[in-house]
Amino acid sequence: MDGNRRTTLRDAAALAAEKLIAPEERDAIERVAERYAIAITPDVMDLIDRADSDDPIARQYVPDAREAITTEEERADPIGDAAHSPVKGIVHRYPDRVLLKPTHACAVYCRFCFRREMVGPGGAALDKDELDAAIAYIAATQAIREAILTGGDPLVLSARRLRDLVERLSAIDHLDWLRVHTRVPVADPSRVTNDLVAALKAGKTLWVAVHVNHARELTPEALAACAKLADAGIPLIGQTVLLKGVNDSADTLDELFCALTKNRIKPYYLHQGDLAPGTSHFRTTLAEGQSLMRELRGRLSGLAQPTYVLDIPGGAGKIPVGPDWFDETGAPISPLKP
Ligand SMILES: *Cc1c(COP(=O)(O)O)cnc(C)c1O
Ligand code: SF4
Repeated sequence: MDGNRRTTLRDAAALAAEKLIAPEERDAIERVAERYAIAITPDVMDLIDRADSDDPIARQYVPDAREAITTEEERADPIGDAAHSPVKGIVHRYPDRVLLKPTHACAVYCRFCFRREMVGPGGAALDKDELDAAIAYIAATQAIREAILTGGDPLVLSARRLRDLVERLSAIDHLDWLRVHTRVPVADPSRVTNDLVAALKAGKTLWVAVHVNHARELTPEALAACAKLADAGIPLIGQTVLLKGVNDSADTLDELFCALTKNRIKPYYLHQGDLAPGTSHFRTTLAEGQSLMRELRGRLSGLAQPTYVLDIPGGAGKIPVGPDWFDETGAPISPLKP
């Protein structure tokens, strides 16, 4: 990127000025924006192919009038985080691990986000007392072995604040390792500075889960940011959401999972889309996801295979959802084409 830092697009007017939405869409998008935050970084903007009305990058980040449609099954808190939040900023669903959400801001706002009712510039970061209380909860709960920083996107925090967080969590004896979930290496790679990497290395073993949904997002800049983390000895895993019109084909997933593996990012989860409001145009069926995973099994290295998972609506936990490898007679199904 050049020296002048270009600005992130944050409203319908800016999207229209960049011709990412048509003038006649502007009113509808303004209404969507009243409910769900918008942010498209210069890096993501450069990736959008304006000539392609089905561009998989645009589809993930440019708001769509269909977001105003909330279906019967959709819910504001699709995986029931609120019911498992003993302290502000903490979600404690599994005994051994907690989510810690230090901020609600993200570098980009994904149109399919399952926390879309919670994230955005309006949802402020935890203040000092709230963060102290969240860390105190982890310190007081012996069963917790892993703290997972998520949000929002924890890598929008300054290197100084991240270092402080990593050091304070690492001082808790019963934590064995930390994990950070982030889209920053892909959406805003220039944030992955040496200072930020050093902050992540300032404590116990820390894994980074890079969120990415399409191989085209793995630009040279994004890959350089990931390489910086990997070269520092930070283990990387990839997390992908299965999204209609973005990556719901075996070829697209094959390309993504191979690109991740080639770049030292182990594909970890392929998520079934959650029932977040206004996201029905992104949702595939479980049968479609299973069929894609079945096809990939025979053609992709085991190293490049993620686990296909569903977060049970309401908050009952994440489960692998197949496909099933036995037919109705109980015989195993070969992944190889006859
Ligand atoms: C997804 C999730 C985790 C992490 O689950 P893993 O299977 O370990 O990746 C932890 N806590 C909550 C509340 C979650 O939703
Ligand atoms: S970066 Fe993550 S939390 Fe933020 S909008 Fe995208 S999916 Fe949601």
